Amino acid sequence: MKNNSLYEIQGLDLRDVCEQFGTPLYVYDADVIKQKFNQFRNAFKGVDHRIMFAVKSCTNISIMKYMRFLGAGIDTVSVPEIKMGLRAGFKPNEIVFTPNVVEFSEIKEAVALGVPVNIENIQNLEAFGQEFNDQYPVCIRLNPNMLSEIESGRASFLDFTSINKEHYQDVGEERVAAWHNQSKFGISLIEFDKVMEIVNRYKIKINGLHLHSSHVILNKEVFAKGVQTIFEIAKQFEHLEYVDLGGGIMVKHHPDDKVIELDDIGRILQKEYEIFCTSLGRKIKIWFEPGRFLMSEAGYLLTKAVVLKTNGFINFVGTNTGFNHLLRPMMYDAYHDIVNISNFTGDSEKYNIVGNLCEIDNLGTERSLDKVRQDDILMIKNAGAYGFSMSSNYNTRPKPAEVLIINSKAELIRKRENFEDLIRNQVELEF
Ligand SMILES: *Cc1c(COP(=O)(O)O)cnc(C)c1O
Repeated sequence: MKNNSLYEIQGLDLRDVCEQFGTPLYVYDADVIKQKFNQFRNAFKGVDHRIMFAVKSCTNISIMKYMRFLGAGIDTVSVPEIKMGLRAGFKPNEIVFTPNVVEFSEIKEAVALGVPVNIENIQNLEAFGQEFNDQYPVCIRLNPNMLSEIESGRASFLDFTSINKEHYQDVGEERVAAWHNQSKFGISLIEFDKVMEIVNRYKIKINGLHLHSSHVILNKEVFAKGVQTIFEIAKQFEHLEYVDLGGGIMVKHHPDDKVIELDDIGRILQKEYEIFCTSLGRKIKIWFEPGRFLMSEAGYLLTKAVVLKTNGFINFVGTNTGFNHLLRPMMYDAYHDIVNISNFTGDSEKYNIVGNLCEIDNLGTERSLDKVRQDDILMIKNAGAYGFSMSSNYNTRPKPAEVLIINSKAELIRKRENFEDLIRNQVELEF
């Protein structure tokens, strides 16, 4: 039995696309990107918002241009990302720079390029004050430390006492730990007095407040609390123009995954936003920086089954890709659904799908797939975000090509690397 939806995008047979461009191949579906963008837009239609696509999730200039076409701005975390955004046609005020622990010189470069800048540590805030005083409005990134407050049992800033551990039950230990480890991001509220002291001393104009806790927006109560907290803090900044709620919206990888309904948090936000704007007496903007939400489900890594082998217990499918091209399974233990798009017999078998690097290199273990034969094409899902952008040349293998399927055409948006690309920057000594 054939299931066209498995291997067709916009009427194109992905196996033909692989024939044309080779494997491994990253393929993005412009229709899905657009659909996700519109879903995001609709969920937050109750608030005056901007969507700043987090380009680190899928750093390709054609994807940037498509996001611009849809009406997004971009969120950048390095100066080259800003420059790429400018080249893609974004105006400086359509780009936000949200780096983590960077040397102050990078912030100066961003200011020179005229983009809104986000400061996330006391040291750079002080340097910023010295350099620019009240001449360049700036946004500060806060870290509400909710979890550490709860765990340490310490008196909390504002009213975190009503948050308790039950709120994290459905988040799962690993994710909690992940969030906990993220605490290098942002200015901890513990240091908030210092922020105010520096802001007042240099008369820095704070025009934005930023809160991004990756992987954490899984729970409505936590989201509501985060929003209330940031609005409460925001009241102290007379030059405030926007509150940036970052990204971090999870998407389903596995049918059992719990994800938050965007419409639900849209409603929560609208309520808090209206209360806040009324008390402020004017409207502010809400910025978002989704990466994963827009791109994850829009992208696939297509790979060829090249070697089938067994060790007596496990059937292995050896592919022509690996964690050099898709790092998430090995790095985060992420689940990525894998399907065989070349065989639809329905007689499935259990496999470990492995990469070809000379390391432990699992793409998926104990997966049921329609019987895999040599040269079958496997589709690895949820590869649109943090797929290509985290790829490397480990084992001296070229990075895959990228293709965008748009208007029922497969457009090449990045060439496959070749041997010359791999050696280009090496300096050869003679002995
Ligand atoms: C990585 C990042 C994002 C995007 O996060 P997603 O989980 O992909 O939505 C947004 N904002 C900042 C500051 C980031 O570092």
